[in-house]
Amino acid sequence: DRLREFVADVSHELRTPIAALKMYTELQREGDVDDTTRREFLERSTDQIARLEWLSTNLLDLSRIDAGIYPRDIREGDMRDPVEAVVQALPEVAVERGVPLDSAVPAEPVELRFDRERIVQLMNNLIANGLKFTPRGGSVSVELTQTEEAVTIEVRDTGPGIPADELPHIFERFYRGTNTGDAGGSGSGLGLAIVRPIVEMHDGEIEVASVVDEGTVFRIRLPR
Ligand code: ADP
Repeated sequence: DRLREFVADVSHELRTPIAALKMYTELQREGDVDDTTRREFLERSTDQIARLEWLSTNLLDLSRIDAGIYPRDIREGDMRDPVEAVVQALPEVAVERGVPLDSAVPAEPVELRFDRERIVQLMNNLIANGLKFTPRGGSVSVELTQTEEAVTIEVRDTGPGIPADELPHIFERFYRGTNTGDAGGSGSGLGLAIVRPIVEMHDGEIEVASVVDEGTVFRIRLPR
């Protein structure tokens, strides 16, 4: 039943961008469009293609997770590398959104066994949510800390927060909350559904603390 529901949800999700692309293409073929409109249709089509691309990548990951064949490559490394790589790749998005992104990592190496590619994916999903949902003038910050037993990553934003009754659902596939303003429409509800299994494959834990109108903190603890 779960699989059937998943396939139904997937088809539903694919229908929206496909219908939009079809419409923009047809409108352009009809010929009677000026250059400005044509450019706008092309831009919207590009956004829809990006959405399809994002969906297909994430769906492939979810199906691998379900099948128990999620590729993992866990090795000893310095956790500062993936954290800094993601933060350094996003400043353009942060500037464009008017939401500064700060990070703090220890001066000494943070050694742990982890899958670099998956941690990059996890950090990307959490930071992208923070940047997407936080209104202009707010901020997103990432902090990496360590003790003898564990490594902790915190992603904190001063965004809209998540209402208490929605918190239990945010890690479900295709779940989208209501408190997300204009940004809500752009999501797929798959980002956090992928974050959780990545935390689990590292035997870690994830916690969320959120206050409506103040912000949200995702805290991930990975044992050594
Ligand atoms: P998406 O971002 O594509 O909607 P996610 O799985 O990443 O899907 O998130 C699920 C829901 O959790 C979002 O729709 C939103 O309601 C809520 N959420 C996640 N991160 C945040 C955040 N940083 N601030 C506010 N709400 C959030």
